[in-house]
Amino acid sequence: MPRIVLARTSKRNTKNNVEHVIKFCKEGGCGKEYLGHRISKYCEEHRNPKNRVKKKVKNKDITEDNRIFKHKFTRTVDVEFYCDICNEPFKLKIYSKIYIYPKYCPFHRIEHNRKKEDLS
Ligand SMILES: [Zn+2]
Ligand SMILES: [Zn+2]
Repeated sequence: MPRIVLARTSKRNTKNNVEHVIKFCKEGGCGKEYLGHRISKYCEEHRNPKNRVKKKVKNKDITEDNRIFKHKFTRTVDVEFYCDICNEPFKLKIYSKIYIYPKYCPFHRIEHNRKKEDLS
């Protein structure tokens, strides 16, 4: 008669039995749904750091707070923009070969000030 070998479970089963919730993988472009611990961030595959794309500090999408302004200026010029939030005009210096500029007026460029606006 074969011996029934139970799958090895932790002796501290009760402790391991933490609540698992449906999570979405935080790895950019994955977003896979998985069942994981509350504080987990990645699906099974991406839990292994080797499978994650290494990012250097910058996690934020650059266009979130900035606009890409395509231009062909070969010298520095002042261009008037309008704030995405309050529509106030503000001037920016546009440099040759630089295409990323702030979306907001100087006031709203401060993240804290933008948050206030959201609440009202
Ligand atoms: Zn993933
Ligand atoms: Zn503004």
